[in-house]
Amino acid sequence: MCDSLELVPVAIVTINEQGKIVFANSKAAELFGYCSDELSGSSISLLLPELPLTEVQTRDGSFSSAEMSSPPIQQMLVAKRSDGVEFFSEVTTRQCRLDGISVRLVVVTDRSERYEMHRNRQELAHLTRISALGELAGSLAHELNQPLTAILSNAQAAQRFLESDPINLSEIRETLKDIVTDNCRASEIIRKIRALVRKGVVELQPVDVGSVVHDVALLVHSDAIVRGIRVVLDIADNLPMVRGDKVQLQQVVLNLLLNAFEAMHDCPADDRVVKVQASSEANGTVQIVVRDRGHGLTVDKLDKIFKPFFTSKPHGLGLGLSISRTILTAHGGRIWAENNTDQGASFYITLPWEHPAGLNRSC
Ligand code: ADP
Repeated sequence: MCDSLELVPVAIVTINEQGKIVFANSKAAELFGYCSDELSGSSISLLLPELPLTEVQTRDGSFSSAEMSSPPIQQMLVAKRSDGVEFFSEVTTRQCRLDGISVRLVVVTDRSERYEMHRNRQELAHLTRISALGELAGSLAHELNQPLTAILSNAQAAQRFLESDPINLSEIRETLKDIVTDNCRASEIIRKIRALVRKGVVELQPVDVGSVVHDVALLVHSDAIVRGIRVVLDIADNLPMVRGDKVQLQQVVLNLLLNAFEAMHDCPADDRVVKVQASSEANGTVQIVVRDRGHGLTVDKLDKIFKPFFTSKPHGLGLGLSISRTILTAHGGRIWAENNTDQGASFYITLPWEHPAGLNRSC
């Protein structure tokens, strides 16, 4: 049987129940930089430090004894070459009998390229996020300046109240309350900026779409005022949670809002309205619609705008929508655009509910 494994053009290792390598074909030896003989008897943790040794993880996430026959399990693990260099690998394991002995078959495929691509994509997403925030820099400074100015004048007022005789304690209490509120507002904005600028791993967790929209609306608040645009939010109550990365979803909504603002640049003042709706749909998704009253999309653009590097803006990167589509696809959702019947365009996003319990909540 081992002879047959030699003929297979992929790296294969068999291990016993103690995790010791029984056999490694020459492809495996080559991939890891060893001689086949060197590997026999070594622990599999030498090659795959993260591979569970005595237990086999089943598809449903529970663990079963290695003795039991089990379906093949595929996982992405860090592998280690003889020179200590680590690489990303796809590892498929399966319990089987070879030459009458129960062993675990471990098939290893080098996936460094795919990992590199994944990292590049994340870097790019981060870059476009920074670029979107860069566009907002001026108005965000203004947004922060407002509470800071209010804090200063309230603090000065409190100083004056302290000097008056008799001291009006209730007025001082009110002033201090205003200072606390303004301070919270300023730190909330800073917190949101920091979250978006953060360069972290993607965190999948239950996300409240309503709060994603509110957070982004807070960030663009001043920019909208400067451009004379009204942002109207219509968020349904008790929206089911979705599962995703909050920062990435904020990035998508931020990009849609900034695009909508740009599209209304030449509109008469009364028309400058962007409506953001979030609702729960009967098909088990949460839908977000960003509707503007701008110049809309020509038929050929409807096709192209989600392609990388398509932009009609003099300083545009043309990456916002293509990255948004990648993000949505990774979340099991969709994004598309339609022209409104009267004026402007609408961008639709759908995201699956986190779990069927969402049904009860939305009902
Ligand atoms: P960028 O904003 O850097 O151009 P995007 O991928 O976000 O990159 O957008 C690509 C293009 O799609 C824009 O340049 C614009 O031509 C078009 N577009 C996006 N949103 C709208 C909108 N709301 N109305 C009209 N055209 C839009």
